[in-house]
Amino acid sequence: MTADPTVELRALLDDLDQHHRDLAEAYASGYRDGHAVGLDIGEHQAEHRMAREWHHAYVAVRSASSAATTADRAEMDVSTAAGVPCSAKCGRCSRCIRAAAVARRGDYTGGPVPWEGRPLRRTA
Ligand SMILES: [Zn+2]
Repeated sequence: MTADPTVELRALLDDLDQHHRDLAEAYASGYRDGHAVGLDIGEHQAEHRMAREWHHAYVAVRSASSAATTADRAEMDVSTAAGVPCSAKCGRCSRCIRAAAVARRGDYTGGPVPWEGRPLRRTA
């Protein structure tokens, strides 16, 4: 121990300054480490969320691609217009109802038909 109190006091102040620098560096280091870990966690969560959302999009696209094609729909429209019932001949679906109507009354070709009754009177 030094006999001069000012020298001893200067040494203590130097220690205190070094302590403050060490403390500031430790805080900065901890902040950087915590920030980096937070980024990693956030990126991980974002990747999981995007994977989940992309999976929903994938399922939607796959189900749409397994639906009827335009050619299938065109063929279905032609057979529906011709009064062909559905393959199950359920008697309840629109195709079967249309098929029964066509069988009963013939195909609608436009214009007035006997079952429509009297034409509406125009008021204007
Ligand atoms: Zn049917």
